[in-house]
Amino acid sequence: MGKRRSLAEPMPGEFERILLGQFPSKSTPGTMHEVRLGHDNVLYCTCPSWRFLKNGAVVRTCPHTRNVMAALKRLQPDIAEKVSQTAELMAKEAGVRAFLPFEGDENE
Ligand SMILES: [Zn+2]
Repeated sequence: MGKRRSLAEPMPGEFERILLGQFPSKSTPGTMHEVRLGHDNVLYCTCPSWRFLKNGAVVRTCPHTRNVMAALKRLQPDIAEKVSQTAELMAKEAGVRAFLPFEGDENE
């Protein structure tokens, strides 16, 4: 198996993204899904469910980003607020309904 490049890896010239969480992959044992925070206040994940999200995908979420978001709300509420505001703004600019991307089950 070759090493696959993931979308969450910084591209050349792109700002570094801060690693916030790692979750063992269920479908590919031995690999980890990584959640990173970009300087654009967007949470990125390497998992297929985040990368291939279909529904307009203006504001992408997955169980991992929701898990990290729940932790941020407890530990770094200022960052959580920025991420949340950014997601709402992106949805508004794209003219899509601002569904609540980071609400929900913290036990996922
Ligand atoms: Zn994920």
